[in-house]
Amino acid sequence: MDNLTPSQENPSVLSSFRGEGTDCVGTALNYDLHVHSCLSPCGSDESTPANIAGLGAVLGLDVIALTDHNTCKNCPAFFKAAAESGILPIAGMELTTEEEIHVLCLFSELYAAMDFDKFVYPLLLPMKNDTAVFGNQFIMNETDEITGEVENCLINAVSISLYSLAGEVGSRGGIIIPAHIERAAFSLISQLGFVPDDCGFDCVEIRSKQAVENLKEQHEYLKNCKIIHNSDAHILESMSLPGNTLNVAERNARGVLEVLSAGFY
Ligand SMILES: [Zn+2]
Ligand SMILES: [Zn+2]
Repeated sequence: MDNLTPSQENPSVLSSFRGEGTDCVGTALNYDLHVHSCLSPCGSDESTPANIAGLGAVLGLDVIALTDHNTCKNCPAFFKAAAESGILPIAGMELTTEEEIHVLCLFSELYAAMDFDKFVYPLLLPMKNDTAVFGNQFIMNETDEITGEVENCLINAVSISLYSLAGEVGSRGGIIIPAHIERAAFSLISQLGFVPDDCGFDCVEIRSKQAVENLKEQHEYLKNCKIIHNSDAHILESMSLPGNTLNVAERNARGVLEVLSAGFY
C-alpha cells in the first residue's frame, strides 16, 4: 500500500510556539478529528474525501481525521486528496460498540486502519443497507468518482465491547476516544451511566465546551483526560472552523496521537 502513504511534508498554515516556561518547541495544529464522509449512511453525498480535504484547507484546518461509522474505506482516497490540499490526514473510524457507544478509533498509519477495517466488517450486524431509509454508502476515489458501495448498513453496532476495543485498536498502533460523551444517546455516559477508568482511553470528545467543567465535577476520571472538541460533521457546512488546537512535537499522525494519549489537559 505504498501509494497510500500520506504526504506529511506539505507546507501548511502552521504556527510554531515555544512552551511557556519550558524549552519545548512544538507546532500548534488546528484540528477537526471527527468528520464523516459520504460513506457514512447519514453523511451527505457532497462530503466526498476530496471535498473534505479541500474545504478543510480553505477553512485553515491543519489536521483532519476521517471517521466514518464502522468503516475506514474512504480513508485511502482522503489521504490522496489531503496530500494535494496540504492537510495532515488521520485515518479513523467511529465505531459503535456492542453497548451502542460511539468511539473514535484513530490510527497513526493508514495501513493499520485498513487492517482494522477488515477486522471490524465481519463483526458488524449483517443487515443490508436500505439506501432509501438510511442513505448511500459510497466508496470514492480522490477525484470524486464512486468506486464502490458498502453492502451492509454501517449504522448498526459491531460485536466488540468497549472493554476489548482499546486492545484491538492499540495493537494496530491506534487510540480510542469516546465520542460526544455528553450526548443523550450513543455515548459513554448515556449507555453506561458513568465513566469507567479501566477501558484504556486518555482522551474524550465533548461537543460542548460549556459542558466540560460540569462533566469533570461529575466524573473524576475526566480530570486526568485530554478533552477535545470536534465537529462530528455529516455535511460540509458543519466542519470546524480553526480554533481548536493541539500542540504537537512532530507534524504527523503519530505526533497527534501522542498528544491525545498524554493524559493531560
Ligand atoms: Zn456518534
Ligand atoms: Zn460521528
